[in-house]
Amino acid sequence: MKLHFPVEALWGAVRKMGASERDFSLDSVIQAPLPPISQKEEGIEVPLIEVDTPGGLLSYQGAQVVLYIPDHGKNVDAVLGDPGKGRRVHIADCITLEEMRQKNRFQRYRAVVNVTGDFDVFGFSRMRGGHVEGTARLQVCINCMKHLNYKGYVTDARRQNEIRRNFNLKDFFAEHSTLFRYLPTSFIEKKGGYSDDWKQVSDKFRASRHFTCDSCRLDLNAHKHLLHAHHVDGNKRNNQVANLMALCADCHRKQPLHDYMFIKARDMTLLQKLRKEQGILGAAADWSDLFELVDPPYNGLLRFYQKDGMARPEIGYELAGSRGDVVAEIEIAWPDAKFAVVGDEGAQKNVAALGWKAVTLEEALRGYRDRK
Ligand SMILES: [Zn+2]
Ligand SMILES: [Zn+2]
Ligand SMILES: [Zn+2]
Repeated sequence: MKLHFPVEALWGAVRKMGASERDFSLDSVIQAPLPPISQKEEGIEVPLIEVDTPGGLLSYQGAQVVLYIPDHGKNVDAVLGDPGKGRRVHIADCITLEEMRQKNRFQRYRAVVNVTGDFDVFGFSRMRGGHVEGTARLQVCINCMKHLNYKGYVTDARRQNEIRRNFNLKDFFAEHSTLFRYLPTSFIEKKGGYSDDWKQVSDKFRASRHFTCDSCRLDLNAHKHLLHAHHVDGNKRNNQVANLMALCADCHRKQPLHDYMFIKARDMTLLQKLRKEQGILGAAADWSDLFELVDPPYNGLLRFYQKDGMARPEIGYELAGSRGDVVAEIEIAWPDAKFAVVGDEGAQKNVAALGWKAVTLEEALRGYRDRK
């Protein structure tokens, strides 16, 4: 999904005001100072009504966050002993939060950019007869998993235990990075652990694979920086060819346990565009191919659509305007029915102006949430 600004009209208005044009690129937005939430490791207490819900996820000040209540009252001893007994961490705009919003819009939660899974908790200890603080590996809210149909949590119910067991926040943040303006870079550890000659090894290896992704077969000769060399066994010093894979940034982040593999919306849009041009998206022969290729925030919705018996959509569809210019890059589209799922309201308007019906990802997920 690409944001589409009616730039020409804007410049027209600017000229009328007698102002001059200045170069603008999205990079300047991304390199803007990080919002306070991204710099506060312990998080910020916020009223629920100030939390945004792009794509059915949770966002504060433009950054992806999770929400939880650190105060465990007299339960804190039990929670410090067994974090499974603690309050759940919300990762999405689930039914629990919706009910809370309706009952008490000003209920405060702690919003935090947490990729570690360790959460600050406190309460009254009966054992010690006073206030205690500690950290606990709190578990993620089941209703949030359901809301996103995360990895098929609803539509592939047999796998629920496995999906829950394998859940981790690093992967979750990485999978959803395309929906947010700010990546959680301030908490990213210095990338290290590679051998000294890693750059040469990587360059040589990727060249030997003709700068083509081993997974989706995308040819990235024209955009070599989006092709990574991946260590299959996770050991960054094991540079034997048998332990390396050439992967595009999207296939790379979909590898299990891929710490901090964030991808910008712009790069994902480019990858989908190239996949389209190279016939990779068109060749998707069944639903499982689509699940592999779609931008992960749309994965759960796509699985709902499959379960509902809908026809297979096109992924990464480019919608052209009357002059043949690309007006919107739509992540999920049914061109014959002129129906699209888009990332935000701006794209929704652009698509609707061409006679299409469009829902945002957020609306579509909410529709499934409230259907039951
Ligand atoms: Zn929840
Ligand atoms: Zn790939
Ligand atoms: Zn890797």
